[in-house]
Amino acid sequence: MDFDVIIIGGGPGGLAAGIYAGRANLKTLILEGSGVGGQVNYTTDIDNYPGFLGTGPELAEKMREQVEKFGITISQERVKEIANPAQDIKIVRTRRNDYRAKAIIISTGANPRLLGVDGEERLKGAGVSYCATCDGAFFKDKTVLVAGGGNTAFEEALYLSKFCRKVYLVHRSEKFRAAGSLVDRVKANPKITIRTNEQIEKIQGENAVKSVVLKHTLSSRIGVLETDAVFVAIGRVPENALVKDILKLDDSGYIVTDENMRTSVKGIYAVGDVRNTPLRQVVTAASDGAVAASDIAAHIS
Ligand code: NAP
Repeated sequence: MDFDVIIIGGGPGGLAAGIYAGRANLKTLILEGSGVGGQVNYTTDIDNYPGFLGTGPELAEKMREQVEKFGITISQERVKEIANPAQDIKIVRTRRNDYRAKAIIISTGANPRLLGVDGEERLKGAGVSYCATCDGAFFKDKTVLVAGGGNTAFEEALYLSKFCRKVYLVHRSEKFRAAGSLVDRVKANPKITIRTNEQIEKIQGENAVKSVVLKHTLSSRIGVLETDAVFVAIGRVPENALVKDILKLDDSGYIVTDENMRTSVKGIYAVGDVRNTPLRQVVTAASDGAVAASDIAAHIS
């Protein structure tokens, strides 16, 4: 089966690319392994995507409807391989099919690194979050906890301190990866308490986060800390397995692109969280998708 564009990944970046490709009359296929929306589906309420107030899954559904309005097929198939990536016509291989395309857009996203502790999965969206910018506002005047010792954790703690009553920053050692200036700002913030050498062992609560069990990494002492939310900020893992031997990646494994979302291989683009971008949000992923599809349209025509 032949297409102008194949989009791998049906998150906001891939879906926006689909809308732009559809409007440009490009024959387009979106391949999505586990249902459209990507990480949007894990966001309870969206309040930072202009023009939309509702839940993450609702936004994903609206985006899907909009894509389908342009006659674009979304097929639930996991891609196994991009064969002959350097050729003009590229082959995208799934378990069931071989598809041919003039251009490919990679929008496979990045997954937050998980703590991997009891209660984390069950309370996801009910106090366990991986994005303070997305979910922080729902904990106004509450007590929250940020896990991690890197720049993200420190930035998230500062962000949350603007409207939360109390912020704990819990890190497993006393050595921070975060920039010294950020550490100084957090230390000077009266709302934030840094707790070092503590590892989260368990997240507790029936329908919402109520507390965490902490283990001191030096003394092995166990304690319980009450909190209304746990913001996990212990790094992210780009979903690059499909392209890690094909495309140029940065030191953290994100796909390197230029301003048109072109990668190091002609005809292959990357958009959204999987690329080296300074902000990973629905709005930036959608913007990337629009840029990539427009560039492809300009070149195919
Ligand atoms: P990061 O720098 O990799 O830091 C991850 C933190 O999580 C580390 O403190 C690490 O502890 C901890 N950690 C990892 N696995 C853990 C686990 N299983 N349990 C508990 N703690 C764990 O990640 P990041 O903060 O997300 O930043 C990612 C990259 O983006 C970095 O290069 C960062 O500099 C950059 N960034 C830059 C800015 C900025 O410049 N404004 C803002 C955000 C991010 P250990 O140190 O003990 O391993």
